[in-house]
Amino acid sequence: MIYFDHSSTTSVRPEVVSVYTKLLEQTYGNPDSLHEAGRKASQQMEKARMLIAKMLHSDKEEIIFTGCASESNSLAVVGYALANKNRGTHIITSNSEHSSTKHAMAFLEEIGFDVTYLPVDERGSISAQAVKENMSKNTILVSVMHVNNEVGSINPIAEIADVVHQYPTAAFHSDCVQSFGKIDIPFEKLDMMTMSAHKIHGLKGSALLLKKKNIRVKPVIFGGQQEQGLRGGTENAPANIVLAKTIRLALEEQKEAYKNVSKINAYIKEELEKIPGAKILSADDALPYIMNIAFDQITSEVLLNALDQAGICVSAKSTCNSHDSGASEIILKMNGSLKDAIHSIRISFGKDNTLEEAKIFIQTVKEIIDKYGLPL
Ligand code: PLP
Repeated sequence: MIYFDHSSTTSVRPEVVSVYTKLLEQTYGNPDSLHEAGRKASQQMEKARMLIAKMLHSDKEEIIFTGCASESNSLAVVGYALANKNRGTHIITSNSEHSSTKHAMAFLEEIGFDVTYLPVDERGSISAQAVKENMSKNTILVSVMHVNNEVGSINPIAEIADVVHQYPTAAFHSDCVQSFGKIDIPFEKLDMMTMSAHKIHGLKGSALLLKKKNIRVKPVIFGGQQEQGLRGGTENAPANIVLAKTIRLALEEQKEAYKNVSKINAYIKEELEKIPGAKILSADDALPYIMNIAFDQITSEVLLNALDQAGICVSAKSTCNSHDSGASEIILKMNGSLKDAIHSIRISFGKDNTLEEAKIFIQTVKEIIDKYGLPL
């Protein structure tokens, strides 16, 4: 099998599996329990929190463990808006956020907040200037993802943070799920940041929200005193502990992995240019890990199924919306044609992919087009 769907999820590192398995057996205590088993879980989890904080240039109290990035985004957006509604009711985001942010924003609109959705340009990103033009004294939150999960466009989050911070009552949140461990993130400039372990060869059901100390949020999952009272539910100590190792390994290997993936990306681009009807829909300066492409001869549905039968995993649109049969929204928002939006597929690479796999992918695509493609 060739796996080119790393934006959707990744394999778990063997080192993570072995540490996690041991922890499941040995560190099963509830970190809030006062007895020895609880204390042991708590000590290890707090040590992991400290190590993670160091790697993210932040303090221990600024790391909130959650169950997934969708939860982190919900806590950042809804939790922040509810806690700060006395300061203002205006929020800015882009029109191409992950569905978790999009739905959190829709919920806030339903309860009376005013949300501005900045349109992405033809490259699939938004500018700091556009944020600046829409800021007002009533703006309390700006939430813009770092890297788009469908096309890989990179938003200028450091510049956006500078714009937001000219307004003392506004905070900046960035969903960094697709950039974490792939390119540098300006942690110091972000008031809140979301990442997810399963996108960097960690566990599913393990994520965090980095929230600076001066930022107030209300919980969206009610419960006890866990995670400073901001996230109810018995903490998943083994998952939270092993997250430190997952992050460390991803950051240590970031440069090497980027180099490898860039080579694969460049090879596929070069080969696609030789195939009549092939188009690269991602911007030239998109993250090399994510490439959105289309072939005039074949719809994404037919291509996806044929690739699957040939043992190659790719996706069309984001996996969270994979059951919609319609066109890719982001391609339409980037001013792509309806045809491109119906024909677009996303290939996303990981640190372990090889050039050999890329060669097989290109060869297989050519064969599929010969067999099922409509004449140009
Ligand atoms: N944000 C982005 C940009 C994503 O790509 C994803 C997953 O596809 C998420 C958030 C949600 O991540 P999780 O599966 O951890 O909820």
